[in-house]
Amino acid sequence: MSATVVEVEKVEKMKNKPEDDQLGFGKYFTDHMFVMEYCDETGWGNPRISPYEPITLDPAAVIFHYGQTVFEGLKAYRTNDERILLFRPDMNMKRMNKSCERLSMPPIDEAEVLDYLKQLISLEKDWVPSSEGTSLYIRPFIIATEPFLGLAPSKQYKLVIILSPVGSYYPQGIQPVDIKVEEQYTRAVRGGTGMAKTAGNYCATFNAQSTASKQGFSQVLWLDAIEKKYIEEVGTSNVFFKVNGEVITPELTGSILPGITRMSVIEMLRSWGIPVSERKISIDEVYEYHQEGALEEVFCTGTAAVISPVGAFEWRGTSININDKQIGDVSRRLYDTLTGIQTGKIADPFHWTTEVK
Ligand SMILES: *Cc1c(COP(=O)(O)O)cnc(C)c1O
Repeated sequence: MSATVVEVEKVEKMKNKPEDDQLGFGKYFTDHMFVMEYCDETGWGNPRISPYEPITLDPAAVIFHYGQTVFEGLKAYRTNDERILLFRPDMNMKRMNKSCERLSMPPIDEAEVLDYLKQLISLEKDWVPSSEGTSLYIRPFIIATEPFLGLAPSKQYKLVIILSPVGSYYPQGIQPVDIKVEEQYTRAVRGGTGMAKTAGNYCATFNAQSTASKQGFSQVLWLDAIEKKYIEEVGTSNVFFKVNGEVITPELTGSILPGITRMSVIEMLRSWGIPVSERKISIDEVYEYHQEGALEEVFCTGTAAVISPVGAFEWRGTSININDKQIGDVSRRLYDTLTGIQTGKIADPFHWTTEVK
């Protein structure tokens, strides 16, 4: 099953590609982008690959006023034998539709958009970096473009896919990070939009994040909005706790973003025979486990860092160190196995990777 080959308008002059050690995150963009539009009468249409360029919108476009938008984030990896792999991209398409549903936006044809995404990457293959830890970050997003100030879902949308070569998340090797438990602000509330990748969820976290950064923490841990007790996420990552040999992660209650790395970690741990439970876990409980000496490892999961070990928490003025601020065995094994599969270095028994030809 393959979508039609999209119309391609190539750039006249290609950009100079940055060196792998200059990449950082989200600073450079490739030569082309994918665009497709929706209107209520005809549905999605006019798919095309065009030069990477600014988008012109009416100042009354719904996106500017009511924030009707969703996005996704995934990566393409270059293998040692020069193949390009995607990691579970079908799951990103599926999640994009879940986000669309929450934001009253029209669904996409998941298989078709994935095919377009592959065509774009295929054209931009030379932009997939090859150094250890680097990848091509893929950012599909949809914005509401109808010029109308009435409070109603837009009748017009634009889907765009842009690509950005990104550097290694761990240029100095994996270092467990210090996390501040956020007590003032909340990220999302049950019944809200926490389970969707939509813009407003992210700008609402900038203030807490910048305060924590100034205090020397790398991220904040978000508690539930109602009781300020149950753990939800860390920054824009899901979080796992290893307690007495069992791995625990907060259950998905609607305010937590269902990470694809989270899901993969759960499936992988189960395949290794390590018990995993998805349940409510409170911050008091984590501190108690630490007191008892039962808190063995804490790590975060997401596309950006894959596995990011937590070295310490601070909550109500009390700091605790986890595993002497060293990466734990399970965290290390998960990191090596997941990145090994993603980059084609080891076998992929789960059939999670897809090659871009
Ligand atoms: C994207 C995201 C994650 C991680 O999802 P992955 O699919 O694993 O990359 C976790 N939390 C939030 C808030 C996110 O936006």
